[in-house]
Formats: sequence, structure tokens, C-alpha cells
Amino acid sequence: MADKKLRSMGEFGLIRRIQEQAGSAAHLVKGIGDDCAVQRQEPGRELLTSTDLLIEGIHFDRRWISMEQLGRKAVAVNISDIAAMGGVPRSLLLGVACSTKVSDRDLQEFIAGFLAEAQSYSVVLAGGDTSRSPGPLMISVTVLGEVEKGQAICRSGAAPGEAIYVSGTLGGSALALHQLQQGEQPSEELARQHHTPKAQVALGRLLAQRQLATAMLDISDGLLADLGHIAEDSGVGAELQLAALPLCPEFVVALEQNPQLIDLALSGGEDYQLLLTAKEQRLDQQPELAGLLTRIGTITQGTEVIVKRADQTRYRCARGGFDHFV
Ligand code: ADP
Ligand code: MG
Repeated sequence: MADKKLRSMGEFGLIRRIQEQAGSAAHLVKGIGDDCAVQRQEPGRELLTSTDLLIEGIHFDRRWISMEQLGRKAVAVNISDIAAMGGVPRSLLLGVACSTKVSDRDLQEFIAGFLAEAQSYSVVLAGGDTSRSPGPLMISVTVLGEVEKGQAICRSGAAPGEAIYVSGTLGGSALALHQLQQGEQPSEELARQHHTPKAQVALGRLLAQRQLATAMLDISDGLLADLGHIAEDSGVGAELQLAALPLCPEFVVALEQNPQLIDLALSGGEDYQLLLTAKEQRLDQQPELAGLLTRIGTITQGTEVIVKRADQTRYRCARGGFDHFV
């Protein structure tokens, strides 16, 4: 419970407004308004849960992202974690702590973006908490989802000899952030990739239901760091082929002018594409996957994650992935 004079419409006015707009879903027995939400659970499925914090000044900068985009991103990055396990996202919980600097209009834009994005994945807002903050705007989003019993795709299942794949293209989000930090305006497409990424739910589902992936995660900390998570949890090493990375077209152009930017593609995060391992050739036999995945390397014995140039000499990335405490 927070300060009742949070803002002109007040905490409860705000909650009422969220409640009016939140909608309903077949699995939601009771949504916003009671002490807890009540959710129906499908038999034969396991519950997936994940939480993400978004702190102003750490995860986002209000000079660059609109409140509507922030609402969308808060939803997409959370749902991406469900996609990365091969699950179906169902419900969201939203914690908001904001100072008086955040206007009613800002909050309404945020909620509008949040709910529109949630709806695009058929996910419903089931509850949350609202408080005043003495400092930065803080958003905490929890997602609830489900997956068939025993079918969640963990980070720990990769084995030597398996192929490494990535969905979509890489580098766009990191390039947009790099340009913003340099005081440049990214193109509309790059800004879209950075501010409103999409979660790869349909692809994650396909991989889980056909049991095609042995390990999987979504790329949020950076390709090398996230591949490092799979390697560590699986007790394996990995070899990435630099020439095979599916860089987004604008990244390829930028790279021609500044070859050092390649480290951004390896270490820059927030692509929210799926990174996975699979038995060789298993994925090539799936017509539905054609064009969705690119093979970028191989799982090896040992523990090292290394990058190889086209001539098979080793490339050493000068930058690490994102880590809050480094
Ligand atoms: P409590 O005192 O039990 O924490 P609140 O007054 O904080 O209850 O919340 C009342 C209802 O409104 C609850 O169902 C809660 O889940 C919901 N709620 C509060 N804040 C939010 C929010 N930011 N987004 C969605 N639902 C919210
Ligand atoms: Mg509360």
C-alpha cells in the first residue's frame, strides 16, 4: 500500500483505471481487484514464472524511449523468458513505483502500451502493486506461463557435437543504443528493434512441442555472455563462427565503416532472439523452421566459448556482455 495521494487520480483511481482496461481471459477466474488473482491451471502442464525489473537510469532512459514504448518493452522482455523455455505466456503482474515527476498522462501511456503488447500475445494483466518512489521510475513485471510437463527447455541440456542456432537477426538493438549514446538518431527500424523488441513465442512453442532443442535461452545480456550461460550450465564449450552471424542489414553497413563494431554484435544485448542448441540435422528436416534459424556454431568438449574468423583463426572479443555488478 502506498501514499494515497500518489497523484491527482490517486493510487486507487489508477488501479481502477488499469482494472477497467485490463480485460479478461478464459483462464483467469479472478483478475485485478481482490487480494490475489485466481488462475485456472491446465492439467498435465507445469507453471513457468519469471520477473524482470526495469529501473530508470539503468534499463531505460526517458529521453530515448516513450512511455508507450516502455510499456510494450516491459511486457515483451518478460514474455521472452517464457518463449525461451518453450512455454505459453498466460498472465502478467505489474509493480509500478513512481515519483510525482511521472504525470497521469505518462502512466496512462505506459499502461496503454503495456496492455496493447500483452493483448498481442493473448496475455492478460492479472494484478500488481502501485507505490510512490522517492527516486527513479521502477517497474517490476512478473509473467506466469505454462509448458507441457517435462518439456521446458532449460539452459543445461547442450552436449558436445550439437549445433548452435539463433533466430532472427543480431546486433540491431545494440547498434541503436550505441547510436543513441553517441547522440545520433537511429533509423526507425533500428529504434523499433531496441525500444519494442518482440518475444519469439511461436518459435519457442514449436521447438518445445517437437522436442527439437536441447538447450535454449533468449539473448538479453549479449550473444557471447548468453552462450556462456548455456556452456556453463551444460558443462560444455562452444565454438562460434563469426562469418555465420545473421547480422541485421544496417549492422552490416555500419560494420563496413567501422570493423570494430563487430564486438557490439557479440557483446551487445537485448536482441531477445532465441539462442539454442540441437542435434545436428534435426532442425534441417523441419520445413516450418526454414528461414527462421541460422546455424552459428558447434558445442564442443571443455568449457571455453571461442569465436572463429572465416579463416578459422581465433577472434578475441574486447567487450564483455552486460553485467550489473561489473
Ligand atoms: P493490497 O493492499 O492487497 O496490496 P492493492 O490495493 O495494492 O491491494 O491492490 C488492489 C488490487 O489491484 C489487487 O488485485 C492488485 O493486484 C491490483 N493492482 C494494484 N496495483 C496494480 C498495478 N500496478 N497493475 C495491476 N493491478 C494492480
Ligand atoms: Mg498492494
